[in-house]
Amino acid sequence: MAEYKSDLLIIGSGPAGYTAGIYAARAGINALIVAGAQKGGQLIRSSIVENFPGFSEALSGYDLMEKIHQQAINLGVKIIDDEITEVDFYDHPFVCSSASGNSFMSKAIIIATGASVKWLGLPSEQKYIGHGVSSCATCDGFLYRGKEVAVIGGGNSALEQALYLTNYVEKVYLIHRRHSFNAEHVVQKRIFENRKITIFWNNVVDEIIGTENPLEVTGIRIRNVKSDKKKYLDVSGVFVAIGHHPNTEMFRRYLHLDSGGYIVVKPQGNATDIPGVYAAGDVCNPYRQAVIAAGCGARAALQAISEL
Ligand SMILES: Cc1cc2nc3c(=O)[nH]c(=O)nc-3n(C[C@H](O)[C@H](O)[C@H](O)COP(=O)(O)OP(=O)(O)OC[C@H]3O[C@@H](n4cnc5c(N)ncnc54)[C@H](O)[C@@H]3O)c2cc1C
Repeated sequence: MAEYKSDLLIIGSGPAGYTAGIYAARAGINALIVAGAQKGGQLIRSSIVENFPGFSEALSGYDLMEKIHQQAINLGVKIIDDEITEVDFYDHPFVCSSASGNSFMSKAIIIATGASVKWLGLPSEQKYIGHGVSSCATCDGFLYRGKEVAVIGGGNSALEQALYLTNYVEKVYLIHRRHSFNAEHVVQKRIFENRKITIFWNNVVDEIIGTENPLEVTGIRIRNVKSDKKKYLDVSGVFVAIGHHPNTEMFRRYLHLDSGGYIVVKPQGNATDIPGVYAAGDVCNPYRQAVIAAGCGARAALQAISEL
């Protein structure tokens, strides 16, 4: 058990957390990152990233986050492999405790705990994440140029991902477990008018099928929830778009969260309702892109530094 004291505690080691750490270290602030269970954040699950500036060749999410991690280390950022389990924002300096029994006292805190993708929960889905299974059409759509893909979900995000994918692919199968969409009328209209999109109502995905070496998706088996009839669809990509849940449960009693559970930050910045507590990245931002998370991390750090 250790007691850490810092001027700035950063919770999370994704693009937002690491970037906040880099800015704090360069400003000479005594900052500490607690990395959490997924060191490097969600992006380490991405097999290829080509929309993060600074790299003329695409690289894997793991390699990208390793480079950012190394950059932070080189600048002197202290990173602790631990997970925050409890926070107390009532007293100042703030005190957080961790899964390993450590305590962290800090004058300011940046929450960069990200948002987790809601997956279907199939073992075959987990196996092919980053190898044909994705949660982000904007990130991975280009990989499926000229191919056939499936999008799972029936909300705005699923429909928008399906529409976005039609810019690249030959065909999108939109699989929805209900008989109507829960999305804006105008988006639904575009879906119904798009000839590249075929909708399978009342269907769920039973299995994702693929090859072993290399790991690649070749199809899905869907099941009609009313008739129990099964059908096989040849697809190279599966986009799971059934939602995200921001990792904010621990902060609920202190901070204002919106209806989706995201931390509400003040306009023009990353400050929360509590002075000295900031939020950055996917935990407060619906765009869910690494470069935006990194930008938010930089802004949160600059704001925290100026208000210390
Ligand atoms: C498969 C996949 C592919 C993607 N591809 C791309 C892409 O090509 N381009 C792109 O721009 N974006 C992509 N994204 C989205 C991108 O990964 C996210 O937008 C980005 O990682 C968000 O950064 P973040 O720092 O806000 O949060 P995250 O990356 O989610 O990091 C959250 C961090 O918080 C930590 N944490 C959580 N709880 C605690 C706790 N209690 N205590 C301590 N630490 C905690 C976690 O360990 C993690 O380190 C992809 C996402 C996925 C899932």
